[in-house]
Amino acid sequence: MNVLAIGAHGDDLEAFCGGTLARYAQNGDKVFMCVVTDGRGRPAGNPDEIAAIRKAEAASSAAVIGAEAIWMAVPDGGLWFDEPTRHLFIEVIRETKPDVIITHPPDDYHPDHKTTSRLVMDAAQIARTANYPSRFAPHREIVPVVFMDAERGIDFIPQEYVDISGVWEQKLTMLAQHRSQFMPGAYDPNFVMPPREHNPFFRYVDVMSGFRGLSANVMYAEGFRFWLAANRIVTRRVLP
Ligand SMILES: [Zn+2]
Repeated sequence: MNVLAIGAHGDDLEAFCGGTLARYAQNGDKVFMCVVTDGRGRPAGNPDEIAAIRKAEAASSAAVIGAEAIWMAVPDGGLWFDEPTRHLFIEVIRETKPDVIITHPPDDYHPDHKTTSRLVMDAAQIARTANYPSRFAPHREIVPVVFMDAERGIDFIPQEYVDISGVWEQKLTMLAQHRSQFMPGAYDPNFVMPPREHNPFFRYVDVMSGFRGLSANVMYAEGFRFWLAANRIVTRRVLP
């Protein structure tokens, strides 16, 4: 199976579905981790250098589970719902031929998350269109679109859960590749990661995945919802 996960920012996928992607990879599925924005906005530093660092971090995170990293490189703060951007999404879908697409829920807090979600939903449909001008053939499969958790789990009641207890270390290792995002101030190449117990980012995923695990009677889990629309519904379980 081909799995395409599309997150607005580097580290979104790790936080909300990293364990699930690790499970897919473990099952032998081909996993594509696509990051939409180029991350040049944070931490403080030369924007071009920061963008290059964020790209390298996303690549090392994908490498942890043997996934393929796709860097869409839309400039931070410049993600809009427009035709050129939708075209980028359509091309990624056509090129990777996913059997399932994972992205943000449509009403998540950040405009980049919301815009990414809407672009995925629209692009998934146009990716099917026979005569749409593209470098790739139409992708006409029935492709479920699965929404990963909302930021801090707010107003998000999962419909299905994935047990990630067995890949917990991998999820944390993936997150830890995004070193720049743990830096409190300007980018510092000599930055030393704080230990897990004093690390707010790790505590965040520990609480989130721990709570989803509690709901599903396992140690750690990730929760998901489905886009219920034509061409998106299959009778098999698509999550691992
Ligand atoms: Zn984000």
